[in-house]
Amino acid sequence: MAGEDLSFLDGLNDFVQEGITSIVSGGAGFIGSHLCDRLIDKKHRVICIDNLLTGNLNNIRHLLENPAFKFIKADLVSDEIKGLGNRADYVYHLASPASPPKYRKYSIETLLVNSQGTYKMLEISRQYKSNFLLASTSEVYGDPKEHPQKETYYGYVNPTGVRACYDEGKRFAEALTMEYYRKYKTKIRIIRIFNTYGPRMQISDGRVVSNFITQALSGKAVTIYGKGNQTRSFCYVSDMVEGIVATGESSATAGKIINLGNPHELKIREIAELIVSKTASRSKIIHQDKRLDDDPELRRPDITRARKLINWHPKVSLGRGLDETIAYFKR
Ligand code: UDP
Repeated sequence: MAGEDLSFLDGLNDFVQEGITSIVSGGAGFIGSHLCDRLIDKKHRVICIDNLLTGNLNNIRHLLENPAFKFIKADLVSDEIKGLGNRADYVYHLASPASPPKYRKYSIETLLVNSQGTYKMLEISRQYKSNFLLASTSEVYGDPKEHPQKETYYGYVNPTGVRACYDEGKRFAEALTMEYYRKYKTKIRIIRIFNTYGPRMQISDGRVVSNFITQALSGKAVTIYGKGNQTRSFCYVSDMVEGIVATGESSATAGKIINLGNPHELKIREIAELIVSKTASRSKIIHQDKRLDDDPELRRPDITRARKLINWHPKVSLGRGLDETIAYFKR
């Protein structure tokens, strides 16, 4: 890896021998950093790889001195990922820009990390015979014509639109991951993550919950794009991480695709009103032009499969999750 000090990797074979080892790509991101925390709580040795393009060192700063945690600042596409030690029990592949403004800004990087980056992580998993989990997205359903979305739905995606870098990037990543399952019997599973919120969302990342909370707390207008009748279903991050770990560790999920998200569906104008009320804000709610980007009209996960296979369902109510998130943004 160009320019990186890799001297600490000399001892990494000992590091990975000492217990269950998980590699987390994108581990300095919003969901990735919570996943690292959870795995450390479970006494795993955690190797976190992140290029910090949209991830943030502050998300993992509290882990950097932990002897069970190693951070490798590297780009899955342009850097050779050497010296991971000689084994890994789990590979959690989350690396990718994920908010619409960020993946549009880093569109080529998004396509490449989901194609070349996924290839690299799958190769590591194949060689180490690790359990592999691909973090895919509800975006593979595009602007869905089936509602709620089941894993069997093929989606309605514009292959050349401005969201395609993410949608098609993830669809390629899913296809490649399934081929490793078919050809090499790599122990893969794919999760499709629906809208997730909570502490460590980046203030500037442009997602609806972080935008609305930031605007409401600073007394600025809360900006709804279009009429606000489009829907989303919001899952609190701790529920998401429980689902990720349960999927990653279960043998029942091998070779399967699983929706993870909260089926509680709201219109965007309802979430705006809720956030304004919870923050006791004087902000006005205003309507701006609809996003010209194939903005999905409806989104709600069918989580029957996750319930059956891993006995998972979200537990944190939107009210409680928003309280925690608002408290974080205030801090
Ligand atoms: N949205 C909005 N105002 C904002 C940010 C987003 O009305 O300040 C809308 C956006 O048009 C979309 C929904 O909220 O319909 C969710 O957007 P987000 O960027 O959070 O993620 P997406 O689900 O589209 O990937």
